[in-house]
Amino acid sequence: MSSDGPTAETTSVRLDVPEHNWAGNYTYRADRLHRPSTLEQVREIVANAPRVRVLGSRHSFNGIGDSSELLTLDSLAGDVSVDRDARTVSCAGSVRYGELAEVLDAEGLALGNLASLPHISVAGAVATATHGSGDANGNLATAVAGLQLVTSSGDVLTARRGDADFDGLVVSLGALGAVTRITLDVEPAYQVRQRVFEGLTWDALFEHFDEITSSGYSVSVFTRWGDTTDQVWVKSRVTDAPEQVRADLFGARAATTERHPIIGIDPVNATKQLGAPGPWSDRLSHFRMGFTPSAGDEIQSEYIVARRHAVAAIEAVRVLAGAVRPLVQVCEIRTIAADRLWLSPQYGQDTIAIHFTWKRDETAVGRVLPDVERALAPFDARPHWGKVFLAQADVISRLYERLPDFSRLVERLDPRGAFRNEWLESRVLGAAQ
Ligand SMILES: Cc1cc2nc3c(=O)[nH]c(=O)nc-3n(C[C@H](O)[C@H](O)[C@H](O)COP(=O)(O)OP(=O)(O)OC[C@H]3O[C@@H](n4cnc5c(N)ncnc54)[C@H](O)[C@@H]3O)c2cc1C
Repeated sequence: MSSDGPTAETTSVRLDVPEHNWAGNYTYRADRLHRPSTLEQVREIVANAPRVRVLGSRHSFNGIGDSSELLTLDSLAGDVSVDRDARTVSCAGSVRYGELAEVLDAEGLALGNLASLPHISVAGAVATATHGSGDANGNLATAVAGLQLVTSSGDVLTARRGDADFDGLVVSLGALGAVTRITLDVEPAYQVRQRVFEGLTWDALFEHFDEITSSGYSVSVFTRWGDTTDQVWVKSRVTDAPEQVRADLFGARAATTERHPIIGIDPVNATKQLGAPGPWSDRLSHFRMGFTPSAGDEIQSEYIVARRHAVAAIEAVRVLAGAVRPLVQVCEIRTIAADRLWLSPQYGQDTIAIHFTWKRDETAVGRVLPDVERALAPFDARPHWGKVFLAQADVISRLYERLPDFSRLVERLDPRGAFRNEWLESRVLGAAQ
């Protein structure tokens, strides 16, 4: 990197060596990286950049966050402030869930859910409708009560839940502006215990799908598409009533030692199991802050379908087990509740998500993805925005009835197209203009 320009000395560098995403499977094409430390600097940089995007914690697996200029908001000062009356917390968009959780824990407060890892930035996760699990839990974007963003004119826009177009602003794909502050719903802190069950048969999963996914506050089924599923992780909120300890879950045995979702990996980076109660922030994610989440050397894809298709969609992937199994480290099936956010895969429907943690073999994964997408097409599968998928804008446009509204919002907030990028044009907006 080399410094460049008098006023930009502390905030702007030319990228002599390209930047990568977290997984290392995507190389950003940007040749300039800005690191503003004040809101004024963000406004100036955004207003003057021909094309720009904000980098979150870079945990997406595709070009969603790329541009010719990138902005990291890590140095932007911003307090975490709790409003107990409104039951909300406000923080900088770049704050990571794990950092936010520390403050909330100290205040005796909690978020309603977390993704599998606490390392991701709040604004980046919200922009892609990142989710955890739980029949009654919406994705993480549904907790957003307010936003502050800098639009391409350099103006600061604030919006709150209930405002016109708010439901289009939240899952923004990073296309509407730089989110500098974000306000989330909070609730009183609670404890969670987590138990893992092993060897659930496919028949039991299909026969008791609703009972299994509702057996806890947040439930994940892990599988490598073998003769049985591998593990079911059940996270339950601790109540005053004594725990009904189950020795089995529809034939799956309770694990007697700690597990990692990927069989064979040391569970040291996984959150505590075996029913030990612990704070929400130390149980709702699968992986602990301070450790590498998941396997690290991986690519991810995920497809979201209406819950009514759960069994048929899982069966459709299972038919491909012969091709999928050698390429996956693990797959995860979760449930996420419906919402009204325009570009949320949960828009208007309770859903299940079928996630793939692939081995890092892009060519082989590229060969099997067409089959996976073809198999899930009859269920109108919506791909996770932050992961690897093949569908182009013509397919995506049929899956999102509010896409024309989103396209108009992009036009209105970013008429000069500063936040547009190749990924957005080809995957999302292409067919909606
Ligand atoms: C190991 C691992 C585990 C994961 N687990 C889950 C999971 O459990 N559930 C799930 O749903 N997903 C999961 N993901 C996917 C991940 O949550 C999403 O890709 C998420 O978007 C990552 O957030 P980020 O901060 O890294 O954003 P980035 O990847 O950096 O950016 C994503 C998008 O957000 C935009 N953006 C970021 N910050 C801002 C801002 N301040 N203002 C405006 N736009 C912004 C970017 O421009 C880009 O368009 C996982 C990914 C990894 C690597």
